[in-house]
Amino acid sequence: MGLTVLMNAGPWLPVPPPGYGGIENVVATLVPELRRLGVRVVLASVETSTLPVDERISVFGDGQFPALQRPYNQVCGIAQAHLAGVVRALRARDDIDLVHDHVEAVGLATLAAMGPDAPPALHTLHWDLAKHPALYGHLDGGHRVRVNGVSAAQLARAPRRLREHAVGHVHLATPLAVDADRRPPTPKGDHVVVLGRINPGKGQDVGARLARRLGVPLVLAGPVGPYHRPADLAAAGAEARQNPDVRFFHEEVAPHLDGHLVRWVGTVAGQERDDLLAGARAALFPLRWEEPGGTAVVESLALGTPVVATGRGCLPELVEHGRTGLLAADEEELGDLLLAASVLDPRECRREAAVRFTPAVMARRYVELYERVRTPAAPV
Ligand code: UDP
Repeated sequence: MGLTVLMNAGPWLPVPPPGYGGIENVVATLVPELRRLGVRVVLASVETSTLPVDERISVFGDGQFPALQRPYNQVCGIAQAHLAGVVRALRARDDIDLVHDHVEAVGLATLAAMGPDAPPALHTLHWDLAKHPALYGHLDGGHRVRVNGVSAAQLARAPRRLREHAVGHVHLATPLAVDADRRPPTPKGDHVVVLGRINPGKGQDVGARLARRLGVPLVLAGPVGPYHRPADLAAAGAEARQNPDVRFFHEEVAPHLDGHLVRWVGTVAGQERDDLLAGARAALFPLRWEEPGGTAVVESLALGTPVVATGRGCLPELVEHGRTGLLAADEEELGDLLLAASVLDPRECRREAAVRFTPAVMARRYVELYERVRTPAAPV
């Protein structure tokens, strides 16, 4: 199709990421499908990125993620050095049709500073936007920068100025959805899984309390702050509790763990993660925040595991109540629904994922948005 896109994945982690890395995973899922559609991709990332692309730009050798612990001005220095590299590359060439930025609002500010010479840009919003309105002030400059959300619910919560620059939303995808309807089903165990960072917003304390009350075996999988294995967390000193997620785990989650009915297994990855999720009778999301994109939700569906969740954020967009999952208004109802999850048919979940959440579906939708951003007359 003759489109060249500069994909900015930032300097923090390589693409694909070795472990944790939401944004980098999205880029790794999207880029191969874009290239299949004929889009040339120039990846701005770090040198250790291994994702096949048409060209690369990198300022840093390896991911700068550990530096995020450093003082704020040093973190900004890294972001700016990376972006200066992107802008240098943009100034040296005129074949980039569009910048697809996933990183920081500061990236858009740098593009805006290039003035009319900068290519149009699409910035994907990955967070719960109610928290970060101030970051996006520069969108009011004359430069053609547009934004997209990862769900309609996320955009609806965004400050008005940001919404005025939105061209739509694109749901997250998972490679697990490819042919999900054709893979043989996994036999179901008794257990329920909560997959995600241990965090008050994800509500593992609610899940653990419910499981104890109902006598349902529950596996909590995911990191606690920087700790991926129970042994590492156990060995950490008292200062580890300065991390709010570590404190949350010790104070609100750990009291419900009995090592038998309710267990925390740390981060699970690769086949182990897929087997745990596919073998669960339900994936539980006892949310206390407005989930913006829900990768773990679409992964659960792709693996044929019905979703039982608080109906917050993007959940009602991703899950059809009564067919692919059950959505509750509160904790009380969540308990009732958890017991009812076995009435749902795993095949419906897989079918839904194969139709809606494949990387190809996501890439086609992004190409539509690229066209919208590039057409000056397009309504915003
Ligand atoms: N994840 C994982 N192992 C874990 C916990 C989480 O691989 O033990 C992955 C999960 O499969 C998903 C991502 O981390 O791909 C979390 O993304 P999501 O959008 O669900 O939540 P976020 O952390 O971005 O709010």
